[in-house]
Amino acid sequence: MSKELPKVYDPKEVEQSIYQMWMDKGYFHTERDPEKKPFTIVMPPPNVTGQLHMGHAMDTSLQDVLIRYKRMQGYAALWVPGVDHAGIATQIKVEEELRKEGVTRYDLGREKFLEKVWDWKRKFGNRIVEQQKKLGSSCDWDRHAFTMDETCSKAVRKVFVDLYKKDLIYKGSRIINWCPHCTTALSDAEVEYVDKPGHIWNIRYPLTDGSGDIVIATTRPETMLGDTGVAVNPADERYQHLVGKTCILPLVNKEIPIVADDYVELDFGTGCVKMTPAHDPNDFEVGLRHNLEVIRVLDDAGKVNENGGAYQGLDRYEARKKIVEDLEQQGYLVSVEDYSHNVGTCYRCHNDVEPIISAQWFVKMKPLAEPAIAAVRSGETRFVPERFTKNYINWMENLHDWCISRQLWWGHQIPAWYCADCGHTTVSMEDATECEACHSKNITRDEDVLDTWFSSALWPFETLAWPDTEHPDYQYFYPTDVLVTGYDIITFWVSRMIFSGVEHTGKAPFHTVLIHGLVRDNLGRKMSKSLGNGIDPLEMIDKYGSDALRMNMITNNSPGNDMRFYVERCEAMRNFANKIWNASRYVMMNLTIDKNELPPLEKLEISDKWILSKLNTTIAEVTENLDKYELGVAVSKVYDFIWDSYCDWYIELTKARLYAENEESKQVAQKVLLYVLDQFLRLLHPFMPFISEEIWQAIPHEGEALIIAKWPEYREELRFKEEEAAMESIMNAIRAIRNRRSEMNVPPSKKCTLYVSTEKRDVFEAGIPFFQRLAYAEQVVVLAGDPADHEQMASCITADAKLYMPMSQLVDKEKELARIAKEKAKAQQDMARYESKLQNEKFISRAPEAVVHAEREKFAKVKALYAQLCEAEERLNKI
Ligand SMILES: [Zn+2]
Ligand SMILES: [Zn+2]
Repeated sequence: MSKELPKVYDPKEVEQSIYQMWMDKGYFHTERDPEKKPFTIVMPPPNVTGQLHMGHAMDTSLQDVLIRYKRMQGYAALWVPGVDHAGIATQIKVEEELRKEGVTRYDLGREKFLEKVWDWKRKFGNRIVEQQKKLGSSCDWDRHAFTMDETCSKAVRKVFVDLYKKDLIYKGSRIINWCPHCTTALSDAEVEYVDKPGHIWNIRYPLTDGSGDIVIATTRPETMLGDTGVAVNPADERYQHLVGKTCILPLVNKEIPIVADDYVELDFGTGCVKMTPAHDPNDFEVGLRHNLEVIRVLDDAGKVNENGGAYQGLDRYEARKKIVEDLEQQGYLVSVEDYSHNVGTCYRCHNDVEPIISAQWFVKMKPLAEPAIAAVRSGETRFVPERFTKNYINWMENLHDWCISRQLWWGHQIPAWYCADCGHTTVSMEDATECEACHSKNITRDEDVLDTWFSSALWPFETLAWPDTEHPDYQYFYPTDVLVTGYDIITFWVSRMIFSGVEHTGKAPFHTVLIHGLVRDNLGRKMSKSLGNGIDPLEMIDKYGSDALRMNMITNNSPGNDMRFYVERCEAMRNFANKIWNASRYVMMNLTIDKNELPPLEKLEISDKWILSKLNTTIAEVTENLDKYELGVAVSKVYDFIWDSYCDWYIELTKARLYAENEESKQVAQKVLLYVLDQFLRLLHPFMPFISEEIWQAIPHEGEALIIAKWPEYREELRFKEEEAAMESIMNAIRAIRNRRSEMNVPPSKKCTLYVSTEKRDVFEAGIPFFQRLAYAEQVVVLAGDPADHEQMASCITADAKLYMPMSQLVDKEKELARIAKEKAKAQQDMARYESKLQNEKFISRAPEAVVHAEREKFAKVKALYAQLCEAEERLNKI
């Protein structure tokens, strides 16, 4: 059953062949099983244009740990993978390629262009999938979904039609966020606010009746071309007499009304503001209340349009400059002040967003948000960590209607047809061939597509056969269990999945949202292309193995917090893999048994009981930590158990027995070594799936593969509290002795008599063989009190023992004194040399700072060494 492990662990080779084995055996594929409970995760779909980055590596590692853990616990654990069509990102990619050939999408036309995008998707869309496999992702690839595939398209269509029929989708003129560079509308979540320095321009608008003027304050003078009013606060005594009058809009020479509205802040600028309903969301609202005209003066590219008179054709920034110049020349500019304000920018291209009035499709958010807030308040869905609940609720309570139309071609085209004859809009599941009101064939389809997030909002159920609610997969796996994602997309995505799930399926789509932070570089900076500080996860896998990268991502990971990525940690985790490999090899080489079974409990020795009891506690705690999503805590416990308890201690504690004559004790040690090895490989598997499977396959085992082996369970009969504590006492004493000896520079070859003074004589008498093997004791004397002459001995103290070693046995006094004298002399010479160098003005002033600093450090080091030598000399002289 068992095979030999090669001398050196080669992650590259092992990872590839193990992954292939899992795939071939179909372990990732999950079917409904009435005997099992389902556990479902849907993978946040990466963009089809995407390349695996550290964020994905983090996301994927966390999900894979959870799925593997639940699979081993006997759940029907399903992890649904997929990719997002990523409307704008993909369209831009393909347009860029076309541009190289000198072609635009308009040259091709919609249909041909979309063919190109699909070609591109077929060619490159699989790249990220292959990369995810390298990480060891155990998703059900048979269920790989795409937001534009048939089921998803059907779900999108159904949701649009349903919401439209419920009056929750409407087409309206609203101020929307518009990116003049990408020439598309953006949702609120796609706008990033940045503090930018700007100005307040105070501009004089003359009153029409000639009785004076009114000074308005604005941060965006170029939009004055579209002004259709001036507003003051009704409580502002300075201006009450002007309300109801009109003034003349400079440069345009147009009469506009002065209105009173609460929206105006008394202390902003002069307290009078201009109203531009077509280019400011607040002005738009004020305009509705006061019936102000709506005049759009900027076009889709951010240039002044035909309503801008002399300024037509100027870019928004050029127009600003020219308008300010003209105002100044004509005597309308009163003053300019510096002012820093929060400017909305496009999340893709970072250009300033332009609020523009436009006819777009919207989802009415208020009726959808309320039950979605309730689902989180009631605990149907909870955020881990809890503090993100507040972000979510805050966002949901302050939602504007969601602008869902995008002026793109790649995406789900809006299923609305306009009738040229009667003006009716037909919205339907099937492509319309005639107007549903007048049956005219003279209809045209809306050109726009839906926001990408409109389809990803349905992800947890559209990937499980919805809208076919009778489908057994939907009934068995939905609602899903845990959603793992970064805090940066709670607003974009998590919130939308929750309200969509609640609205369309009547259930929150998952009970837990596990939030993780960003992966930053070693200096704490965001990894970015422009800084060039990104680290490629694939390169790390290539160098250190996927297991090492996963361990790096999960160790020190605490939900919701950013983490720093240190390459050295990957190296450390590769060393951990090597340590496990070597320990397993050692155990296997010493096995004469071929079956993994525990010996009868009464045959166990104290060290066996200690390791079994420790394992038992580790199992209970790791299981609890995983259930609480404390993955970072869980993994560090597994790590400590394997490295310290098993490799560094238990293997050492049993060595003598493996080579001894006593056949029974040998067998018991072998059995426990193997049993514990098997158990910890199971605990390790979700975190380091590859190496754990490879070793497990090589040791005597029952069952096909570790990936589907049973998760270890706490066993009351393996709890040996007393023996565990006793063994710890002995180990503490061994540690103390080793430290003391190394302080005194005693070589391991110097054995000595060890006196143990303790109240727990039984415990320490049982420990005698360990002191002999691991604490260099030739002879061990356990006493209730201190030995005679103990003042002449080197000593150390632990919680339950005093340990004494006769100095004369540890060191050869004369020889040691001579050695110390020689070292002291050398140290003195060094000290003198450094001192004179550091007192040399020339050196200090000419040498680079780093060199001087290094000399100072060397000096300090040798001084400290000298002091230590003096102390050692003093100690020796006391003997
Ligand atoms: Zn943009
Ligand atoms: Zn019609």
